[in-house]
Amino acid sequence: MKAIRQTLVALALIALVLSWVWTPWVAVVMLAAIGAWLFWQLQRQDDAAAALLREPESVDRSFDDAMAIIRARLKEGEQSLRDRDAEIAQRKQITNAVPDGLFLLDNGGRIIWCNQAALVMHSLDAFRDMGKPIAQLIRAPEFARYLDDDTQPEPVVTLGGRSIAFHLERGSEGARLLLTRDVTEREKLDRMRRDFVANVSHELRTPLTVVGGFVETLTDLPLEPDERNRYLQLIANQTTNMRRLVEDLLTLARLENDQLPPEATQIDLALVARDALADAEALSAGAHTFEATIAPAHLLGSVGELRSALGNLLSNAVRYTPAGGRITLNVAARANGEVVVEVKDSGVGIAAEHIPRLTERFYRVDRSRSRETGGTGLGLAIVKHVAQRHRAKLEIESTVGGEQHGSTFRLRFPVSAA
Ligand code: ADP
Repeated sequence: MKAIRQTLVALALIALVLSWVWTPWVAVVMLAAIGAWLFWQLQRQDDAAAALLREPESVDRSFDDAMAIIRARLKEGEQSLRDRDAEIAQRKQITNAVPDGLFLLDNGGRIIWCNQAALVMHSLDAFRDMGKPIAQLIRAPEFARYLDDDTQPEPVVTLGGRSIAFHLERGSEGARLLLTRDVTEREKLDRMRRDFVANVSHELRTPLTVVGGFVETLTDLPLEPDERNRYLQLIANQTTNMRRLVEDLLTLARLENDQLPPEATQIDLALVARDALADAEALSAGAHTFEATIAPAHLLGSVGELRSALGNLLSNAVRYTPAGGRITLNVAARANGEVVVEVKDSGVGIAAEHIPRLTERFYRVDRSRSRETGGTGLGLAIVKHVAQRHRAKLEIESTVGGEQHGSTFRLRFPVSAA
């Protein structure tokens, strides 16, 4: 500014001197030029000042822009955090839905993370036990050996009465994944299957051995006709037992494998009951007294299956009631619509501890009596399946000894089956 002012003063003095020396027109032109230049200078300063005055506004604007960018970034960050949270929650949900126990272990075998099933299966505490060595929490020598040595077979350990199988995913480095599975049911089924095969083999081998022995005797020894006939009769009895066993096995297999409900035909239960009663009377051959109260009753279901169930209950009553005993059959349609079939005997009775296991395949209280009387050990298992398929309840009451000795087997068919 100072320089401008000095320049202006100098120019004004020159203009005055020139106008005085030459002609006033030169002074006018010079003064006009100075004025124009001055105006231009002032205009520039004005613009600069205006620009300076505008400066805060532009700073504001860039600050707002920056804030907007930061806010947008923050929003994006929040969204991605929310997305990650949702993803983590979903993964947590998935791992918690897995029925197997999952553990993430570090190199030292310490727990980094585990799912809900693992906590429950091994009675662990999510806060207390994190970071602890797993071998300290799951105490079983075969598991500890397996953890340290990858040549060891995968162990199945009994923990708190349950069978738990272990499988370790051994990565080369870093965290390792340990899977634990409750295999109690699978083990139980396996054991049942093995027992079943062993039982069937045994049940078939016994009569086969007897038949084989008699055949040998008949072939090797010169026997009297009477004796020969007796042996042949014994062979016939054994083959009947084997046939019965095979028939019961097939019936049971059909009942167990058939997922469909029994054919829903109207059944005259009184007719089925009278039929089964006639068979039981024939089996008893006059050794027992029979009483029957058979009311008209109808059911929806399978005649064949109900006939088989009633036949088994009545033949058991005959076989487990000594000669002279009494057998009662009741068929009643109750006022509430329920249909009840009851087979009662005055036989040997069954001790209370055996009752819950009677419907297991090949479970027998008195093995020799069952065999002697041609039992297969499958009768009540068949009854149980038929009852289940007709939504009926099987009730068993029994008394051993005393005046009231004997057993009652009751099938209660619900209103919907009637
Ligand atoms: P089994 O062919 O041996 O009779 P079941 O499955 O029909 O096989 O019966 C299982 C066991 O239940 C029998 O071995 C017998 O010990 C007992 N049992 C069944 N019914 C009676 C009954 N009415 N009285 C006494 N014991 C019975």
